[in-house]
Amino acid sequence: MSVNLENKKLQEKQENIQDYIKQVLHLIEKDEITKEDAQWITKETVDGFREHVNPGFLEYRKTVTEGGQFAAVEWSDSGAGFKDVNGKEYIDCLGGFGIYNVGHRNPKVVKAVTDQLKRQALHSQDLLDPLRAMLAKILGEITPGDLKYAFFTNSGTESVEAALKLAKMYSERTTFISTTKAFHGKSLGSLSGTAKGIFRKPFLPLIPGFRHVPFGDIDMMRKTFEVCALTGEDVAAVILEPIQGEGGIIIPPEGYLKQVRELCDEYGALLILDEVQTGMGRTGKMFAAELFDVVPDIICLAKAFGGGVMPAGAIVAREEVFKSWFENPFMHTTTFGGNPLACAAAIATIDVLLEEKLPERAAEVGEYFLNELKEAAKGHEDKVLEIRGQGLMIGIEFHKDEIGYEVSKGMFDNGVLVAGTLINSKTIRIEPALTISYEEVNTVVKTFKEVLKNVKA
Ligand code: PLP
Repeated sequence: MSVNLENKKLQEKQENIQDYIKQVLHLIEKDEITKEDAQWITKETVDGFREHVNPGFLEYRKTVTEGGQFAAVEWSDSGAGFKDVNGKEYIDCLGGFGIYNVGHRNPKVVKAVTDQLKRQALHSQDLLDPLRAMLAKILGEITPGDLKYAFFTNSGTESVEAALKLAKMYSERTTFISTTKAFHGKSLGSLSGTAKGIFRKPFLPLIPGFRHVPFGDIDMMRKTFEVCALTGEDVAAVILEPIQGEGGIIIPPEGYLKQVRELCDEYGALLILDEVQTGMGRTGKMFAAELFDVVPDIICLAKAFGGGVMPAGAIVAREEVFKSWFENPFMHTTTFGGNPLACAAAIATIDVLLEEKLPERAAEVGEYFLNELKEAAKGHEDKVLEIRGQGLMIGIEFHKDEIGYEVSKGMFDNGVLVAGTLINSKTIRIEPALTISYEEVNTVVKTFKEVLKNVKA
């Protein structure tokens, strides 16, 4: 090919992608989309996933039919739900696995973020940024016990990484005890604490020093502490979700968390509570630690922390522990963590949670929801093994993955999104906005009942 021809082709390619970019930007700025737009978006999305994101998603999602003939492509959201490109409305009971505690695009959160955006989006990285200080103060007030100093992150896994590193620095120990069915994230440090074999195996060996004991089994926890002490592998920290989320909404036995706290104190280990999913009102208290009357040394937050508008996370720790980072605050850093937009979102989120008493609401609506679901499942004991929950963190466990998948697919087709994919549906999770109305709850229950009736055992 001559040089000229090659240049011409390159130029054409660039012009094409620039046209494409313009088309996409034009779509973003549109208030309403046409039927043709919707068709184009659907085609581009499915093709884009197949050719450039990961075709695997098209296989696993209940939102795509065989051969990708029908694909639900999301486009807008508000309140307790969202709409796809064709304008079909869904009640969102998956809630981004616990992101939307204050609802989708809560107006107060959106206002705080857009107001902040008009002034400054990201921080200079050198001057002192005010919202970080103010949010840290607020967190010191609302988190349990004497938790005081905050470090900000952009996601749950980053919060866990920060907690693990802080625990190592403070304790000068390297052993961590985690639990079976735990989920703490998928970056290499947090994955070490995560329990699921298929996610861990290809990446072994992970961070040395992690041990897993059965969640809820205090005797095994005690024995593991004893063995670690005898072998000189003293425990830096125990990391726990107060109620396991990804593991299938597993509520610990009575007194378990308090007993773990006592063991940590006895052996000089820290207690890290991973409240990435349980925090910010989800379980009926601002933090699940309060349900069990336990104060951790470090709490991990993310997901709903950014109000469903900004990615944001944090750890909050006791001064005694956090002061390991006083001398050199650059021991653990992240460019975007604690940025002004994320802090504005988190501050407004906390305001909404407190003002609208959403944790209390989660307790009340959650109890109603749970009872109604149990009632709806009566007579289907051959399909449903158990329905359990705390606040608006509810799990429906089926006898088989296939039943769960069929139920979640059926509910989706009828406008209710719940967790449950082809590979992970034995327990489907219900984690709606804490603002969900009773009417919406009733619709979800009615849909569940109808779908369950038509699914084979
Ligand atoms: N910790 C818990 C308890 C979680 O539920 C999750 C995510 O589901 C994480 C950590 C990881 O959060 P992220 O996906 O934001 O990294």
